Amino acid sequence: MTISGESLKATSQKKSSKNKIFIEIRRDWCKGCGICVAFCPKKVLELDEHEKSSISNPEACTQCGFCELHCPDMAIELILIQEGTK
Ligand code: SF4
Ligand code: SF4
Repeated sequence: MTISGESLKATSQKKSSKNKIFIEIRRDWCKGCGICVAFCPKKVLELDEHEKSSISNPEACTQCGFCELHCPDMAIELILIQEGTK
């Protein structure tokens, strides 16, 4: 995946929901500890060649929120986009 800027975003959508979730990784805040990679139950995340968290498999995200909750540097944010809003 090509990366530009300091933030990386990907979209996931539950099959049962019309709401979308953006996974935003603030790369400049990420210290590459790997907690999010190790504990993501769906292997959505990986460390890239710069030792920054990267989204490799957004379709598998179940929107559980573990990564956002446990990142010690608050570098990951799940942003809910509700159907009918912009
Ligand atoms: S838990 Fe946070 S700081 Fe650690 S690799 Fe993931 S995004 Fe980076
Ligand atoms: S919300 Fe859950 S499934 Fe999605 S990337 Fe984070 S830890 Fe993985």
